[in-house]
Amino acid sequence: MVVGEFSTEIDVLVIGAGPGGYVAAIRAAQLGKKVLIVDKAELGGVCLNRGCIPSKALISAAHRYEEMQHSDDMGFTAEGVKVDFQKVQSWKQGIVKKLTGGVGSLLKGNGVEIINGEALFVSPSEVRIYQGNEFNRYKFNHCIIATGSRPVELKAFPFGGRILSSTEALQLDEIPKSLVVIGGGYIGIELGQTFAKFGTKVTVIEGADQILPQFESEIVRWVQRKLKKDGVKVHTKAKALSATQTDSNVTVKFEVDGEEKEVTADYLLVTVGRVPNTDELGLDEIGLQKDERGYIKVDNQCRTNIENVYAIGDIVAGPALAHKASYEGKVAAEVIAGHASAVDYKCIPAIVFCDPEIASVGLSETEAKEKGYSVTTGKFNYAANGRALSLNANEGFVKLVADKDSGVVLGGQIVGPGAPDLIAEIGLSIEMGATLEDIALTIHAHPTLGEMVMEAAENALGQGVHTLTK
Ligand SMILES: Cc1cc2nc3c(=O)[nH]c(=O)nc-3n(C[C@H](O)[C@H](O)[C@H](O)COP(=O)(O)OP(=O)(O)OC[C@H]3O[C@@H](n4cnc5c(N)ncnc54)[C@H](O)[C@@H]3O)c2cc1C
Repeated sequence: MVVGEFSTEIDVLVIGAGPGGYVAAIRAAQLGKKVLIVDKAELGGVCLNRGCIPSKALISAAHRYEEMQHSDDMGFTAEGVKVDFQKVQSWKQGIVKKLTGGVGSLLKGNGVEIINGEALFVSPSEVRIYQGNEFNRYKFNHCIIATGSRPVELKAFPFGGRILSSTEALQLDEIPKSLVVIGGGYIGIELGQTFAKFGTKVTVIEGADQILPQFESEIVRWVQRKLKKDGVKVHTKAKALSATQTDSNVTVKFEVDGEEKEVTADYLLVTVGRVPNTDELGLDEIGLQKDERGYIKVDNQCRTNIENVYAIGDIVAGPALAHKASYEGKVAAEVIAGHASAVDYKCIPAIVFCDPEIASVGLSETEAKEKGYSVTTGKFNYAANGRALSLNANEGFVKLVADKDSGVVLGGQIVGPGAPDLIAEIGLSIEMGATLEDIALTIHAHPTLGEMVMEAAENALGQGVHTLTK
């Protein structure tokens, strides 16, 4: 091993080039800082390489396949529709390559230095960056840790062979005939339903009393119905017990209502959560504080207990989402540049790209009531929207939650096609302190799905034109 004798001095060191790290690096560079970013793997992190982007590409391919086969009500009869899954996979990889290449160009274009290597803290102001067995030392003025997370591995279901994490599930080169999914959170449901659309027989085992437990049951009901149509068998309040693998399949034992059951499938996908990558960075040695689950403790400026060290993204508390990581990245970079930035989590959208898609931002009706608001709500159904019908997308609704006295919008939930994009208007309304009236008075183009947000506001105000009752 060659020991780096000299330490290079740098201003801002960013560890990890996922949506947290690369955005932080670019923002810091825009603010005039000299930035070095290091990643031990590919630029773009989990989101671009093993998360958001590849999963959404497969989801959209699965939708295309489903539509090709099942558009009879619009007058199409398609026969012999075939899927070349390896081609689907290479199309997906092409998107990943384009985007990760784009991240590299953006970093370079902003003058950020990029190193492919693994960082390890040796002091509160110095890291070693390993490239193989060799390392170099870097002293920094500021550091932003953005090392992300990895799938939780359960003792009874160790990854390997036919037991997959989301990473391997996204890279299968053939469509499995059958698949068991442990964990009905958003990753498990998105991937499970995607394979079901490609023809896989899917069984989901979820411990809670509904899948997607963080969403209200009036929303999840729509997804459950569609999962059933897609042939997905969902077991809730179920406990996965064990798995036995052979060369060709895996058998999973689980318990529901005190009864033991088993299911055999080509693969088992375990999606029961993520753990922060904070255990192999030398953080304990430098006295950086974490909580009992390994998340780094930060203040509202993303600063850790070590003055010049910041942490963002999946390694700090809050939802493990790419847009939250990027948002914190911008805040950390601005704080380092001397701005009075701070995080405000009032409005982090949560999306599930299941079918129908679901999206939520701000407070749900239940949460608003729990917070003591006197609440009013307005709803509008896809079935009454002309654009939705012309898209053959008549299932779902838009719901607005507002303070009854002031009309100020507190939250919104959408279930139905386009929900992930439609929710942005409600997020902006919350950020701007808009009222139901503001939304109702905004002219929305016709015919669009966006009109449903306006009509939900009108509905809450008792002025609905295309709905009869509030
Ligand atoms: C299947 C799946 C689907 C998802 N879909 C969505 C979605 O639709 N929308 C959404 O918002 N979120 C989604 N996510 C979550 C999203 O990917 C994460 O929230 C996001 O990637 C977190 O960003 P990050 O910057 O904190 O970390 P990451 O993206 O995890 O990046 C961390 C980077 O740090 C590097 N690193 C780690 N340790 C070191 C070290 N010691 N030295 C150098 N480099 C290191 C890693 O190689 C990695 O590149 C999905 C996740 C999965 C798994």
